[in-house]
Amino acid sequence: MSENTSDNNTPVETEISSLGEFGLIERLTKDFRMKNAGTKLGVGDDAAIITCGDKDMLVTTDLLLEGIHFDVRYVPLKHLGYKAAVVNFSDIYAMNGTPRQITVSIGVSSRFTVEHLEQIYEGIRLACETYGVDLVGGDTSGSASGLVISITCIGEADADKVVRRSGAHDTDLICVTGDLGAAFMGLQLLERENSVAAQSGDPDFRPDFAGKEYILQRQLRPEARKDIIEQLARHDIVPTSMMDISDGLSSELLHICKASDCGCRVYEDRIPIDYQTAVMAEEFNINLVTAAMNGGEDYELLFTVPLVDKEKVEKIEGVRLIGYITKPGLGAYMVTRDGGEIPIKAQGWNHLF
Ligand code: ADP
Ligand code: MG
Repeated sequence: MSENTSDNNTPVETEISSLGEFGLIERLTKDFRMKNAGTKLGVGDDAAIITCGDKDMLVTTDLLLEGIHFDVRYVPLKHLGYKAAVVNFSDIYAMNGTPRQITVSIGVSSRFTVEHLEQIYEGIRLACETYGVDLVGGDTSGSASGLVISITCIGEADADKVVRRSGAHDTDLICVTGDLGAAFMGLQLLERENSVAAQSGDPDFRPDFAGKEYILQRQLRPEARKDIIEQLARHDIVPTSMMDISDGLSSELLHICKASDCGCRVYEDRIPIDYQTAVMAEEFNINLVTAAMNGGEDYELLFTVPLVDKEKVEKIEGVRLIGYITKPGLGAYMVTRDGGEIPIKAQGWNHLF
């Protein structure tokens, strides 16, 4: 194993947390040179782009670990399977593509029975049916550390329609779909009720989730925005940049700005937030805009379109214009209700630690 060494030849030991997830990925992958002409885009976007005849093939993969990404005490296994598949489809839609195939790899500890795994696969099957995707393979192994699910998704798109994170330009409009922060508030609710149940010691404790169905569904059983990709095509719009919102809007805006070498302004009062999210944020005494900007797992789409597409994009139901792209020197800021500007910071989810 090769090691970095300091001046006096002692090995340098770098804490992984000092780099963060994206710093780590950059450090590990920076010395890989693409050797195949067919590799159009490697690390750094929602999916890799590979030439495949007159189409582009898109490839993305996601790893879900028990205790890090999900808690089987309150996540129904069928929902877990559904979500594990859908988050991959979301990355393919984020490239303006269509998911076609998945492989599913699982690591299973002895706590789980065949029936448990069947429930997970029922969820995966439902997702595949809903989104028109084929399960084509995978791998199965025992696991010493709980349940592991890794799904790889292959998608396709016309080569001239693929949308990367890197194409945003000064004056482009910034759009988001649906509403934000609900999945995060759903998680807060599930975690609270789970600890209340544990403290009550009553095995029959059943939390009352009436009126909170939407935020729970957003956390437990998210959908990918296939409908928006279809609407964009119908309206003849190819975004200049796009990604899905998995780590929180702030973090994703900074990804677009970095990849596109630009700045941005988004308006606080334009951030779409559902009523139930607002009620829950109040109950938890969490700042609503912070939850919407930084809460993860919404799986909505963030994209930019040229100014000339304003009228067309406004016709699509579920799309909200939240701001605009600027020249790089102007930085990334949120314009508050009183007209002030606060810098956008990536406080998104960090599942690494
Ligand atoms: P997303 O949130 O859209 O799923 P990620 O933030 O997980 O994307 O990953 C960002 C980019 O880094 C992607 O291009 C992904 O393929 C790549 N990547 C992540 N982890 C690794 C790794 N361990 N080795 C190589 N590439 C990686
Ligand atoms: Mg993504």
